[in-house]
Amino acid sequence: MQEFEDFTQSPKLRDVRYDVRGPIAQEAARLEREGHRITRLNIGNPAPFGFEAPDSIRMTMINNLANAQGYSDSQGIYSARIAVAQYYQSRGMTDTDPDDIYLGNGVSELITMVLQAMLGPGDEVLIPAPDYPLWTGATTLAGGRAVHYVCDEQNHWWPDPEEIESKVTDRTKALVIINPNNPTGAVYPRHVLEAMADIARRHNLILLADEIYENITFDDAEMVNVCTLADDVFTITFSGLSKTWRVAGFRSGWIFVSGPTHRAKNYLEGLTLLMNMRMCANVPAQHAIQAALGGHQSIEDLIAPGGRLYEQRTTAHRLLAEIPGVTVEQADGALYLFPRLDPEMYPISDDEQFVIELLRQQKILVSHGRAFNWIDDNHFRLVTLPSVEDLEVAIAGIAEFLEEYRTA
Ligand code: PLP
Repeated sequence: MQEFEDFTQSPKLRDVRYDVRGPIAQEAARLEREGHRITRLNIGNPAPFGFEAPDSIRMTMINNLANAQGYSDSQGIYSARIAVAQYYQSRGMTDTDPDDIYLGNGVSELITMVLQAMLGPGDEVLIPAPDYPLWTGATTLAGGRAVHYVCDEQNHWWPDPEEIESKVTDRTKALVIINPNNPTGAVYPRHVLEAMADIARRHNLILLADEIYENITFDDAEMVNVCTLADDVFTITFSGLSKTWRVAGFRSGWIFVSGPTHRAKNYLEGLTLLMNMRMCANVPAQHAIQAALGGHQSIEDLIAPGGRLYEQRTTAHRLLAEIPGVTVEQADGALYLFPRLDPEMYPISDDEQFVIELLRQQKILVSHGRAFNWIDDNHFRLVTLPSVEDLEVAIAGIAEFLEEYRTA
């Protein structure tokens, strides 16, 4: 028998990481197969925690199934693109046209396509640390180089525009803004966004604004869509149905291109080519967009004091902050907290191993900080989607684990 070489992955994947669903998630699955019940605080997936989508969204999708059997236009069905255009018009982008909207299978697919169409070998993208790791992974996959700007935990996890500007080179093509932020929960104030837009303006960068949590803010945090501050900067804004409308499984998202789009004609032709090559986004889910954006969003009740999301994030923050050696910035938005463990009390040398130990001992699954391209081993991310009761039990388990770790 002739000996063949094994089948191996492409070298393109060598430096691509997406550890949120990596070895820790596999270990959790293994423990579940052994019969353990795992408390999953690792993925921002609202529906399994009892956050159901408004009925109108589900009914519209069901009622349109017969119309959704064929491929659609690659850019997306017109009624949904009009709905998205009107959504941005109502947020101050009065010139928005349905032709500026492109629909995708979730923001994830759009992030990948936008970067594939944009980057050549060695082109740089400025990405926050910590980040939603698809931004770094998709930049690397597209042949680009992720250059991280470090958000400041001492200053509400906001980015420092001076540091961002110091990292601009003649290879920098784009500046990524994740606002509200995953994993830190930060919501950037207007002056920070203005300074970031100004960097893009002065250095001819494309702004990539991931605003998938735009409707999930707490207390008096003001959500400003950065495109409204930069109508002279070519900006691609990303959002979708997964979080506010709680149908992450539908895989439905959009981008909105704004600013001097006439200067991006060639780029948009490249993006359109990629969109054509994948035919179209899932058509039944495209039909859900108009229903979602047209109706009462029903998220307001969840984020106001007394609402589930508000109370869960408030309780989780309070309980975590009570643990010795844990400091945690309160989340102004999104669905996460990103606590810090005092390195003197908890000298962790491998944060992934640390969260695997937590999982094995307490059957609680969180994500380690480095999975978000964070720079030390002393952070983890916790999802605030479980009920207050479940969070109380889980955080008590984390506290017990930390107590043992500290005194061992
Ligand atoms: N961007 C951010 C910041 C996210 O947190 C997520 C999902 O958690 C996504 C994009 C991807 O969302 P989608 O479900 O639309 O692919």
